[in-house]
Amino acid sequence: MLEVKKAAELLLDSTFAIAFTGAGISTASGIPDFRGPQGLWKRYSPELASIDYFRKDPKGFWEFYSFRMRSLFNAEPNRAHYALAELERMGVIKYVITQNIDGLHRKAGSMRVIELHGTMLESYCTSCFKRYDSREVLKMIDRGELPPRCSCGGIIRPDVVLFGEPVKDIEYALTIAQESDAVLVVGSSLTVYPANLVPQVVKQNGGKLIIVNLEETPMDDFADLVIRGKAEEIVPAILDAVKELVSNN
Ligand code: NAD
Repeated sequence: MLEVKKAAELLLDSTFAIAFTGAGISTASGIPDFRGPQGLWKRYSPELASIDYFRKDPKGFWEFYSFRMRSLFNAEPNRAHYALAELERMGVIKYVITQNIDGLHRKAGSMRVIELHGTMLESYCTSCFKRYDSREVLKMIDRGELPPRCSCGGIIRPDVVLFGEPVKDIEYALTIAQESDAVLVVGSSLTVYPANLVPQVVKQNGGKLIIVNLEETPMDDFADLVIRGKAEEIVPAILDAVKELVSNN
């Protein structure tokens, strides 16, 4: 595929390429995205994952959220996550900046990961800030402790950015984006602000913008390359094309 080879060339021509990923990279791992055809918000209201709802009804919040968490603990990275980790080991990609909270990039072996929306794998007490492995929290819920409480009595929450809360590490991510001369966007609708500033900043600074997504995104017109397809097929193909170009030089 010509486009895949072009993506590999753009990455190899850059000196500081980064990946920016969204929920679409994890759908092949069995985790539904939000806005795609099978999206979570087609079945549930986003209100359920908001800070207001957590404050108003922590029991109801955890009833919904523990269901999401359980599906994540059973999920494994797919070929797209592994391919990005290998591109990092090869020195082709310097950072993965993700909107995902599933922890699958780290599980696949990516080392430099910025999780703008936090991680579901960890939780913490809202009173004393003691940290918990979310697996422990799920066990509390299994024992009927709803909402789950810390030993100090405080209510525990997941370490994720809920609707109505500011994202984490955005300044850091934007600093990395300023340094970057190419961004490979994978599986993001690019509609969630301010995370979507990351690819915008790279492009505005003269860097290359490569988009791999099943559906159109609002940034397709600004992109240097758009590949319409499945992340789990396209990203490993880009990795293969990179390896081939490297071995031919
Ligand atoms: P999104 O749901 O808005 O968009 C996902 C995009 O991925 C869609 O445009 C869809 O067409 C595309 N897509 C779906 N499957 C794909 C595949 N196999 N290959 C390529 N593209 C595919 O997701 P977003 O842009 O990440 O923003 C939504 C928010 O959802 C983020 O804030 C994130 O925190 C949260 N979220 C995270 C997870 C997760 O951690 N895995 C899951 C759902 C939602």
